[in-house]
Amino acid sequence: MSDVREHADDIHEQFSDHIDVSVDEIEDRLTTLVDEYKVPIDEARRSVTNHYLEEADLEREELAGGSSEDVRIEDVDEPEQWIDLTAKVIELWDPRSDAVAQVGLLGDPTGTIKFTKWAKSDLPALEEGGVYELRNVVTDEYQGRYSVKLNSTTVIEELDEDIEVGNDTSVVEGALVDMQSGSGLIKRCPKEDCTRVLQNGRCNEHGEVEGEFDLRIKAVVDDGIDAHEVIFDKEATEELTGLSLEEAKEMAMDALDTTIVADEIAEDIVGTYYRIEGPTFGRYVLADDVEELDGTVDAEDLLIKARSM
Ligand SMILES: [Zn+2]
Repeated sequence: MSDVREHADDIHEQFSDHIDVSVDEIEDRLTTLVDEYKVPIDEARRSVTNHYLEEADLEREELAGGSSEDVRIEDVDEPEQWIDLTAKVIELWDPRSDAVAQVGLLGDPTGTIKFTKWAKSDLPALEEGGVYELRNVVTDEYQGRYSVKLNSTTVIEELDEDIEVGNDTSVVEGALVDMQSGSGLIKRCPKEDCTRVLQNGRCNEHGEVEGEFDLRIKAVVDDGIDAHEVIFDKEATEELTGLSLEEAKEMAMDALDTTIVADEIAEDIVGTYYRIEGPTFGRYVLADDVEELDGTVDAEDLLIKARSM
């Protein structure tokens, strides 16, 4: 079945209780928009849906769930799927761009997932700790990590209940044996919702951009059996090293060299034992809670192991 036909089917299903319209007629409308007016299919779908909403004198909320499927967070494993989630807002983060109204972390009993809500979607604000039914959100993927986008077709319903959020955190206890490149004082792409780390001032997606400084550590922690890749974000890095982003910038400016920051950090932490707890994303553990343990290691010994990973 073609993409357009599938969308037509979905729309038909949504409206079949309300108006007398055939799948063919809906498909014709979609095809006209997509083929003649070169409208992207999602937009075409929105436009056609709006047309029938008006015809049926309905509010979007009154429509049946339609195509999107009720899924659990752990089952999100494909980008560009339209899904429904029932989830709790665990954390809200500061949006890095005006195009984003809200960004944060959602959780359900099976795990957690990042969400982004576009400013132009004009949706009500989600609150930290709130539990919501989110219908018609779109999945996205970046470097093996999934997220969901709330868009102008998304329907948000606050639920008067609490849900338990699944524990997908890992604990790694071992020696920090290596710090990988891309650690220390880095620059990220400032384009909306991009945040990719720049290589020589260039973003993979957006080319040459004026980057924004950030602090991060990508470390290898060896627990004696396996080597784990652990990422410390700015907050975790500042806490671990006692070095703030501002201080790191000053340090780099004084030395006219940003790599001095990674060198200083490495000197401080490589060879130390830690207990690190945090959520797992793909092959990375994100350091949320870090505790220094007693003992030091011969980093050289363990480095050999880390390099053979
Ligand atoms: Zn970019």
